Amino acid sequence: MPLEIVTVPCLADNYAFLVHSSTTGETALIDAPEAGPILDELSRHDWHLSEIWLTHHHWDHVDACGEIQDATGAKVVGAAADAHRLPPLNTRLRAGQNYRFANEDVVVLDVPGHTVGHIAFHLPQSKAVFTGDSLMALGCGRLMEGSPEQMWGSLSRLAALPTETTVYSGHEYTKTNARFALTIEPDNPDLQSRARQTEAARAAGNPTVPSLLKLELATNPFLRAKLPSVKSALGMEDSSDVDVFAEIRRRKDSF
Ligand code: ZN
Ligand code: FE
Repeated sequence: MPLEIVTVPCLADNYAFLVHSSTTGETALIDAPEAGPILDELSRHDWHLSEIWLTHHHWDHVDACGEIQDATGAKVVGAAADAHRLPPLNTRLRAGQNYRFANEDVVVLDVPGHTVGHIAFHLPQSKAVFTGDSLMALGCGRLMEGSPEQMWGSLSRLAALPTETTVYSGHEYTKTNARFALTIEPDNPDLQSRARQTEAARAAGNPTVPSLLKLELATNPFLRAKLPSVKSALGMEDSSDVDVFAEIRRRKDSF
């Protein structure tokens, strides 16, 4: 049986995710923004939480970790490099380290940029990646700690995953991201139709997360900084990929 993945809206615009195996009965939570909705979702499915995986140390991803751990007895898993500023970890992960969950591989990816200790969880068999605030739907996280080089490297690693991978990111920012993306590539037809679909989904109260990596590659301006068409739209034909990425990130910061 494939793993079942459920999106749990939390706080104003955060997403947490539950990954459940009906074969082993195990359930993992990705990020812990708010206890109420997550515990409700667990009891609605009658799932017992086994693990909490943390993508990065920001409060809106870890604040409810202790409360959820107390309520469920789940073990907490996060980046070894950030153990000093994450909730107490039962398992410390390093990038490249192979981790197993419910008979599946979990590949830990280092994705610094938004924060320096940020990790992503890739489940190749389930064709899913949990990216937190690194790669987001039509966007990427702000560079709060890392450099453009770091974030460009992180996005490039994520962009190299199989294109049929589903991207589970941490926030519902897609509508604003779409408006911004259209300032970079106003004539991109895939982006135009995604922007329309995003408006419709939000008007109906539906989430726009997760999304397919294939769609991100076709529409997300931060993944497209290396394209000659994007460079020339910015008048940066001769600039490096990372410089073009940095310019797009700068523009988004003041959008
Ligand atoms: Zn964050
Ligand atoms: Fe966040």
